[in-house]
Amino acid sequence: MQSYQQALAEASRFIKTNDHFLVISHVNPDGDATGSVLAVAHLLRHLGKSFTLVNEGPSPQRFSFLKGFDGIINLAEQPVNHRFRYVIAVDVADEERFGDIGHLFAENVELLNIDHHPTNTCFGQVNVIYPEAASTTEILYDLCCLHFRQALNQDLAEALYTGLLTDTGGFRYSNTTHKVMEMAADLLKFNLEPAKIAQHSLETITMGHVRILKIALDTLTFAYEQQVALMAVSLDAIKQAQAERDDIDGLVGYPSKIAGVKVGVLLKEMKEGEVKVSLRSKDTVNVAEIAQAFGGGGHAKAAGFTYRGTLDEAKKALLAKLEEVFH
Ligand code: 5GP
Ligand code: MN
Repeated sequence: MQSYQQALAEASRFIKTNDHFLVISHVNPDGDATGSVLAVAHLLRHLGKSFTLVNEGPSPQRFSFLKGFDGIINLAEQPVNHRFRYVIAVDVADEERFGDIGHLFAENVELLNIDHHPTNTCFGQVNVIYPEAASTTEILYDLCCLHFRQALNQDLAEALYTGLLTDTGGFRYSNTTHKVMEMAADLLKFNLEPAKIAQHSLETITMGHVRILKIALDTLTFAYEQQVALMAVSLDAIKQAQAERDDIDGLVGYPSKIAGVKVGVLLKEMKEGEVKVSLRSKDTVNVAEIAQAFGGGGHAKAAGFTYRGTLDEAKKALLAKLEEVFH
């Protein structure tokens, strides 16, 4: 088994010896995905490399304060007519999570895969998979410290800090280690404004979020003696609330935070016959295992999957699976 240090050295070689990179993360990017993409961009810019940042869809507006945010191409709006040989994927657990992006890969594509999901499928030629890292930006921080210390500047530090802050839930989740706090302390030396970053990343909710929350709270149900709480968002609800995708982010927190609840669930109808299921565990239940049983993945305490069927069918199937845990 290759050590983490060896993997980081290989990643550094991949970056140093190649050029004209495509940098991607996962569909419905979060703070860690967006922060990681921009951190890699700042690193590549420092090294004088050329790069293109692409996501299948839009990146969340709440991260638009990050330097370079406008440079992330939304493929749904702006086609890219180029095929890339060198691809850097950050925070992506498996190839399905790229979304519809494979057509940008050259036939002889070489992928550098940097991620902290334990369910990562090691789809790259070079893989830096370190599940002990709280965020993918923690791995990128290690990469910078070991191989590109000169590249660390305020913009790069802010991108790294944002991924760390959001993936630890504001330094509250169980992945908030001693090393996380040391990394945060080091990054703050670059004149970051932690209150500003937290305000944008975690504290601000949109009017659309409030409208969809009002509707979603009416769907709240419980199972297994209130150890499981579920909320659903139908296409109709999204339309009625005039909610954008960004507005729905964070809804899963409401069922999950209720006292006594061990697993919180959000079922979101993406389109007719397709439901995105988000799972959060506050206890010992490993929701990554549950998600994997449905072809998804994630972390022990935060995971998800896509279900083909109606909202009701998704809920029934999930509750049947959860019975194995809560019988
Ligand atoms: P969320 O519920 O916020 O969409 O995702 C929570 C966690 O589960 C994230 O770490 C995310 O990467 C992972 N996750 C969500 N959906 C999927 C999925 O369909 N497949 C995999 N492999 N991971 C997912
Ligand atoms: Mn992450």
